Amino acid sequence: MNRADFDAASYPWVRQALQQANQALRQAEQADFSGLLAADGEFLPGVAYTRDCPLCDHPAANARQLFRAHGMHIMACAGCGFVYSRDVLLPGAEQARYRQSQSSQANQALKVNEAYRFLEQKKAEYVVGRLAQFSPPATLLDVGCSNGTLLEQARRQAWQTYGIELGETAVQSCLEKGLQVVHGSFPQDLPAHWPAMDAVALFDVLEHLPSPRQSLQQMTACLKQDGLLLVQVPNQRSLLLAIEQQKNNNYCHGHWSYFTPRTLQGLLEEEGFACLHLETYISELDRILAYDDDIVRNAWATLSNETPQLTAEGLWAQDMGYKVFGIFRRR
Ligand SMILES: [Zn+2]
Repeated sequence: MNRADFDAASYPWVRQALQQANQALRQAEQADFSGLLAADGEFLPGVAYTRDCPLCDHPAANARQLFRAHGMHIMACAGCGFVYSRDVLLPGAEQARYRQSQSSQANQALKVNEAYRFLEQKKAEYVVGRLAQFSPPATLLDVGCSNGTLLEQARRQAWQTYGIELGETAVQSCLEKGLQVVHGSFPQDLPAHWPAMDAVALFDVLEHLPSPRQSLQQMTACLKQDGLLLVQVPNQRSLLLAIEQQKNNNYCHGHWSYFTPRTLQGLLEEEGFACLHLETYISELDRILAYDDDIVRNAWATLSNETPQLTAEGLWAQDMGYKVFGIFRRR
C-alpha cells in the first residue's frame, strides 16, 4: 500500500490525458457560476443564503473574511478557526446544479476518462487495503458512490456492498456492474430494508453539506455500534491551496466547508468517533512546482516552521496533501 500509487503527479501521462476534460470542466463551472452572479460578483437575489459557522454556530458577522470566490465569502471562524463559505446556494439552485448543470455533465465526462479511472482504481485498492487493517469483510455503504469504483474493489475483497448516488448516469454505470446502488439523496432515499452497516464511506461528501454536523449524525444512524466511517475531504491545509487561495478550483459552488486533518478529526470526535487512521494524500506536486520557488516557500511558511521538503513524501509528512483521508470507529 503506497500513496504514490494513485498520485496523479507521479504519472505525467495521466495529466496529459486529463488535460482536455479538466479544461472543459473548468469552463463549464465558470459558465454555471456566472449564471448565478450579479455584475458586482455577489449572488443574484433568491439564489443563496448566508449562514454562521457550521461547526460551532459562531456568527459569520464576527468571522474574518479570507477572500471571495464566485460570490462566496470565505470566512475563518472567530470561535473555532474553521474555514467555511458564509454563502450557500438555496436548495432549488443547488439541485439544478447537480441535476442539469454544464459542470455536472463535464464532471461525469471526466469520471469516465480512462486515465481518471486508472487513478480511482489504484486509490480504491489502497482504501480497501486500509479498511482491511481494521475490519474483516462485512457490509459497506458508499454514500455518493459515483461510478462505483470503491464498491467494486470492496466486493472483490468479499465485502457486501451498497451505494447511494445523486447522479443518474453514475447510478446507471453502477447498475451495469451489478452493484446494489439506488438513485437519490441520503438519508431519505435509503431503502428501509438495507441492514445497519459495518462501514460507511463518505468520499468528497462532507464539504458539500450545508450542515455537516447534522448530516453526519444522520449518517451515523445507519452505522452499527463500533462500525467504521471512512472519510475523504479536500484539505484546506494543503500546500497547493496555500499557494493558489481563491484561484484554486476547490473554492466552487457546492464546496461549502473546508476541513483540515485537525478540524475533521475534531468534528468526528465530538460526534462520538475514535480516530483510527488519519493522513493526507494526493500531492499535486507537479502543479506546485510550476510556481516560482519563492511563492512555494512563502506558502509553505504559512503552514509549517519546518524546512520545505518539496517531494510528495515531504508534503504528506506535514499533512499538506490535497485530500484528507481518515478512518474512524463509532464508540
Ligand atoms: Zn466555528
